[in-house]
Amino acid sequence: MPTSAPPVHTGLTWHNGFHALGSDYFTPLSNQPISGTQPLASVYSGHQFGQWAGQLGDGRAILLGEANGLEVQLKGSGLTPYSRMGDGRAVLRSSIREFLCSEAMHALGIPTTRALCVTGSDDPVWREEPETAAVVTRLAPSFIRFGHFEHFSARGQLTQLKTLADYCVERYYPDCRSAQTLAANAYANLLQAVVERTALMVAHWQAVGFCHGVMNTDNMSILGLTIDYGPFQFLDAYDPGHICNHSDRGGRYAFDQQPAVAHWNLYGLAQALLPLIEDEQLALRALGRFESVYERQLHRLMCAKLGLPDHADVPRPERQTLIQDLLALLAQNQVDYSIFWRRLSHGRASGDFEPVRDLFLDRPAFDTWMLYFSELFAHTDQALAADLMLKINPKYVLRNHLGEQAIQAAKAKDFQVLADLLRVLQHPFEEHPAFDAWASFPPEWAKRISISCSS
Ligand code: AMP
Ligand code: MG
Repeated sequence: MPTSAPPVHTGLTWHNGFHALGSDYFTPLSNQPISGTQPLASVYSGHQFGQWAGQLGDGRAILLGEANGLEVQLKGSGLTPYSRMGDGRAVLRSSIREFLCSEAMHALGIPTTRALCVTGSDDPVWREEPETAAVVTRLAPSFIRFGHFEHFSARGQLTQLKTLADYCVERYYPDCRSAQTLAANAYANLLQAVVERTALMVAHWQAVGFCHGVMNTDNMSILGLTIDYGPFQFLDAYDPGHICNHSDRGGRYAFDQQPAVAHWNLYGLAQALLPLIEDEQLALRALGRFESVYERQLHRLMCAKLGLPDHADVPRPERQTLIQDLLALLAQNQVDYSIFWRRLSHGRASGDFEPVRDLFLDRPAFDTWMLYFSELFAHTDQALAADLMLKINPKYVLRNHLGEQAIQAAKAKDFQVLADLLRVLQHPFEEHPAFDAWASFPPEWAKRISISCSS
């Protein structure tokens, strides 16, 4: 990663009918040589919707090489040996969503792959209807997935499995060699490290109200990064059972299922690593870390959202009751998740909680909760709490209808909405008065946006 803040590039470049919009990495990386260039597509397998899907692989992604310690990958650049029945392409719609969301997640402090730029062309691509092609150039320290391990393990290719695991340990988890956490078993340590990073990532998702939509094991990063932005959604009204992926009929990846699914996927990774770990008990112990790391991180994040610093003198059971009661109230009243937290933060700053109260149909129930909340917080510094809250409760999240507006404008070759939205999402905790409308409730038509796996 560049050490000094890179200059922000928000302009558009045009080349023979191509247009590109760059993120803040665009300028620093555009002059960087990419080392070790031997473009490649990698093979992986995976579990999709709970079923073993066999071989998948980079069907439309090409790894160009490395720059500044980041792998540079093109998504949607054409056929690869793993394209199977696909065309190797990505459409402008899904590319804009991935581009915006990876940058938005980064700005929210959530571990994620990054986007360098999105490039569009007029080349037609057929999905449910004719669309046009685009390529996202994306960056990550590594794009290795659980599925890479599952692939070699399922085929009994243990030499390759070991080479891959050794590479991950040396390159990304060097402590796993020396640490004695789980005996002197580097592979058990590797599993535990991935378990912990995944748990931290999912806790962030739950706290901010992010629904990934396709948590297949081939979409799970070995570095605990949010990867493969498809039918994702930030919650509008709080609905724990929300299903954002139109193709997910059974709700396997519903919002409140995400922690359990992540844990399930980690079992898949553990199974794949077992020939190297050679000790089922150690693997189970590593997996057992999930719950405690997840619970602790979620609790920490939710308390911060309430303006309660770690050292505040409120016992854990009481904090927990406060959070659980609140989430139940938000669900019963179908309260907009992001707007609630932002209004609560402002309420804390001003002492006026009326705008928060307005969000609830059942005002007496809210008043009861509010009384409990105020009592617990009576002795904390209100200004400090408000400050904490305004830095963790974003004003702007990439709601579906905002992405949709940027997409529709871009389809008509107007990239200003996209550039503006990117700029706002890069600073989601700040006020952007000209764009207040983007922090408001979703319009009625947002309910009709249907996002499937098609991309
Ligand atoms: P996803 O649902 O995007 O994670 O994709 C699942 C698998 O399908 C991955 O192996 C992708 O590379 C592959 N895939 C998705 N779309 C295409 C496409 N248009 N062409 C080729 N492969 C694709
Ligand atoms: Mg994928």
